[in-house]
Amino acid sequence: MIVVDPSYEIQDDLDRASLTVRLEACGRICYKSEEKISESSALPFVKKIAEHGHNSVMEMAVVTLRLVCTSQQITDLLGCQPKFLFVDRVENGLLVTGSIRTFRELYLAFPEIALVQAMVDFLGASHPYLFEGVWQSQKRQGGELIGVEKIPLEEVEQLASNLVLRHRFLGVKFIVNRAVTHEIVRHRPCSFLQESQRYCRYSQDKFGNQVTFVRPLFFAPDSAEYQLWQQAMELTEDLYLQLLETSTPQAARTVLPNSCKTEIIVYCNLAEWKHIFRLRTSPAAEPSMREVMIPLAAEIEKRYPKLFM
Ligand SMILES: Cc1cc2nc3c(=O)[nH]c(=O)nc-3n(C[C@H](O)[C@H](O)[C@H](O)COP(=O)(O)OP(=O)(O)OC[C@H]3O[C@@H](n4cnc5c(N)ncnc54)[C@H](O)[C@@H]3O)c2cc1C
Repeated sequence: MIVVDPSYEIQDDLDRASLTVRLEACGRICYKSEEKISESSALPFVKKIAEHGHNSVMEMAVVTLRLVCTSQQITDLLGCQPKFLFVDRVENGLLVTGSIRTFRELYLAFPEIALVQAMVDFLGASHPYLFEGVWQSQKRQGGELIGVEKIPLEEVEQLASNLVLRHRFLGVKFIVNRAVTHEIVRHRPCSFLQESQRYCRYSQDKFGNQVTFVRPLFFAPDSAEYQLWQQAMELTEDLYLQLLETSTPQAARTVLPNSCKTEIIVYCNLAEWKHIFRLRTSPAAEPSMREVMIPLAAEIEKRYPKLFM
């Protein structure tokens, strides 16, 4: 068995990546198939994901748009009560942030709304593969002209504080135990992707033919309690590997414990991170959760001192 310490990584590199590269990098965490990433792998991967309806992958990239439009067009959009879309009024129109999934499903539900058409026409023109099966390029007749402009991340960061909180999305990859992931996924406004014990077969070479556990912070390394924990993990690993000889990973995983190492990506806006830090760094929170959240909160607070006062 392998024992690792918990950790986290803010996904700054993916902020600068294209939408498809970002979606692939996040999506592959489920299968732990990152070794398959190549210069040409992103597009076929994302197309297959969209086809199979692995929808949470399509939540892992957001786009911020500025719309120049009329009051009536705004009223029509808000009348749809668009879900998972962050909408703010700005001069001459709207500032809108949503994930690829949000835009896809908004178009499926409300293809007749002018602002929905304008946003998806704009995104579909440059990324048609992200809207396959949902949207097709077409010439629209009549209607009042709508201006659509993509706002780069650097510009989002320069907006007023209340807008940065809502429109700046940030992804963090955690390596934590399964108890921590169970708790993190309760934060409903976030998007999540995590290593799947259904797909990952830990007897494979790429996993070192063994199970990885997260070191529990509760027991000192040389204590009797730590020895007991280690015995339990060794026994569990042995049973899991035996089960894999005749069963699928999804069947064998039924013996895996909370200490199992899991990778999870949490993607949400800064307002939600603020909420998460308030709850998950407090003395009432679970110690293994605080172990990663306290240093992460400190790092993000340093980046955005005015927002996290
Ligand atoms: C110390 C601690 C102990 C806990 N113990 C338990 C426990 O014993 N059992 C248990 O089941 N859970 C437990 N939880 C989980 C907790 O109840 C919440 O589910 C979790 O912290 C998610 O936070 P949230 O609901 O505030 O907000 P999030 O899901 O992060 O949502 C953010 C905000 O969105 C809004 N929101 C989202 N969804 C809705 C909705 N459906 N309706 C209204 N507003 C919404 C709210 O304003 C909310 O503040 C515990 C959490 C903590 C921090």
